[in-house]
Order: sequence, then C-alpha cells, then structure tokens
Amino acid sequence: MDTTTLKVLVERAEKSKIGQVDFNNLSFGNVFTDHMLVCDYRNGVWETPKVMPYQPISLEPSAKIFHYGQSIFEGMKAYKDADGATWLFRPLENQKRLNISAHRMAIPELPEEYFMEGLKALLRTDEQWIPTSEGSSLYIRPFMLASGTGFHASPANEFKFIIACAPSGSYFSGKVKVLIEEKYSRSANGGVGYAKAGGNYAGQFYPTQLANEKGYQQVIWTDDNNHEYIEEAGAMNIFIRINDTLITGPTSDRILDGITRKSILEIAKDEGIPVEVRKITVSEVVEASKNGTLKEMFGAGTAAVVSPISSFGYRDADYDLPELENSYASRLKKRITDIQYNKAEDKFGWRY
Ligand code: PMP
Repeated sequence: MDTTTLKVLVERAEKSKIGQVDFNNLSFGNVFTDHMLVCDYRNGVWETPKVMPYQPISLEPSAKIFHYGQSIFEGMKAYKDADGATWLFRPLENQKRLNISAHRMAIPELPEEYFMEGLKALLRTDEQWIPTSEGSSLYIRPFMLASGTGFHASPANEFKFIIACAPSGSYFSGKVKVLIEEKYSRSANGGVGYAKAGGNYAGQFYPTQLANEKGYQQVIWTDDNNHEYIEEAGAMNIFIRINDTLITGPTSDRILDGITRKSILEIAKDEGIPVEVRKITVSEVVEASKNGTLKEMFGAGTAAVVSPISSFGYRDADYDLPELENSYASRLKKRITDIQYNKAEDKFGWRY
C-alpha cells in the first residue's frame, strides 16, 4: 500500500525524442530520456518535486557549485524483465548514501520520500526508455548541487536535487588493464573519499589520463600514506582472489561503501566462496602474481557491475592475470544480474 502524502508534479514533454535513439547500439550515459526530476531547496525546505521535460538548467555565475564544487551524486539502474516489469536494485541504499554524502558536504539531507516518490514518478513517465536488449539498462543519475549564490567560501543556502536518466549499454567492453598508482591519491583520511562528491572524480581525471597515455584504462588507487594498500579500482571497489579466497578491503574514510561490493560479499558467502574483508597490500598482490596464487582481480560497481582485470602495471612491470574457466567474476556477475533482471529468485530481498 502506498501511504505517501507527497505529491510529485508532472509536466510532460510535448514531443518524445525516443524515435531518434538506436536502442541496439547504446553507449554508456550519452543519450538522455525525455524527462528529469527537479526539486529545489529554498528557505530551509525542500519544495515540491517536479517531473519536467529534460532541458538545460539556468544558474547564476555566482552559484556556489561553480566555485566551491558543492555537489554530490548517485548512480543506480532500472532494469526491465522479460515480462516488461521494471525493477530497481536496493534503491534505499542509494538514498541513504546520498544523504551520507550530503551530510559530509554541508548539503541539506533529502527526505527518503522525496527521493523515492520523485524517482518513481520519473520512471513511470519515462518507462518506455528502459532498454530491454541484453546487458542494457536505464542508468539513473540523482545529484545535488549548490545553486545558491555568493563568493563567500561557505555553504550555499539554496540547492537543487535533480534526477536524469540515460538508457545505457555496457560500461567497459572486455577486460581492463590497470595501473597501480603510487604518486597521486584519490582520497585521504578525514577527507571525502567515502562521499560521492563531484570533486573526487575531477581529481581522478588527470592521474587516469596519465595512465591512459601509458596504455592502461584504469588506475588502482592505493592509500595516501605510503601507497602500500590496494583501495579502489577507478570508480569501483576492488576484489582480489588469491587461491580460492576472495578479498576486498574494508570501507573507510577513503573508500566508497559500494552497493555492488556489499551485495557481492553476501552472494559470495552464499556461494560458499571463502571471503575476507581485510587490508591487502600491493606487495602481497605482486608476490601472489609471481608465485601463481593470484587468480583474479575485478572491479565492482553499478555502472560496470563486475569488471574483470586482465593485467596490472606496477613500477614499470606488467603482471598478467590467468584466463579462468568459471571464474568468480563471471559467477558473481551472473548471480547479481539475474537478481537485477528478475531472472532468478531474490533470496536477499534486494529487488524493488
Ligand atoms: N567506488 C567509487 C569511488 C565509486 O564512485 C563507485 C560507484 N558509485 C563505487 C565504488 C561502486 O559503488 P556502487 O556499487 O554503489 O555503484
């Protein structure tokens, strides 16, 4: 039963753009649906959310987002099953994490009802945009930005919460080659690494460009103290398999508490895979590669789901991962996507 009292306004686009989209050749995050959800924060309250035609937003040059980067975002997906029903995957986890990010960035938290009712109203309006081809989904990008003005370096007093959506295919094609980073850091103790703050990602671009120039697609982030511990893979959490044990680092100030990561941990335990959540050093991984016990490395995140790593670079040497039949990566990816697309029983209660 729907007990909500929150009203979401809906203004429909006069003409749909959907006919211009080739749903059989979708890239990731480059075409946008007909509508977006907008909710403004003014005078200390979140106003009525509104679904409206997707369009540019107008901000003053003095809006604080432009100067101080006071902005956060989320990433989630909507999936269509074989019967045409629409599913979300653990959406309340995104809603909670948005507010964790908001809190850290001095942005007012958004009530759960605004997030969920706004999201559902938007998805109902743009339902025909959720792709059905294998491996595709509707990527959903909720975000908040400081629209309030002023050159004083202090939090804005007005904000916008927006959700925009993009029908999307896969994020990476094939396995990725990664570089273990020893100079630059993504985040620091006491910093904002655990928040999905826009600036975290801008700060990653340059080191990632340098890695790209050397032929690597992604950077493996290490801790900012001594670059001793493996932390994340680009904008994904990282899993490492040594012998039969699947290892991932504990979340911290510096690491995003990924929803895919925690789901994979539960699925792996359910599969009977030995799992360890502990710090893992670069030297342990290099050693395991040299002695043949390093079996798999993969990134985990909403966009790419599970992204197997083919080799890693470290201090001018490349280390190849073996090709495995029935890898943990492929088993875990199948289990999680079968739940997401309603192809299998959801014993965890994650489908929404
Ligand atoms: N780490 C970082 C830095 C990320 O940006 C993301 C993507 N949100 C993840 C990990 C994976 O998180 P999730 O599984 O919730 O998408």
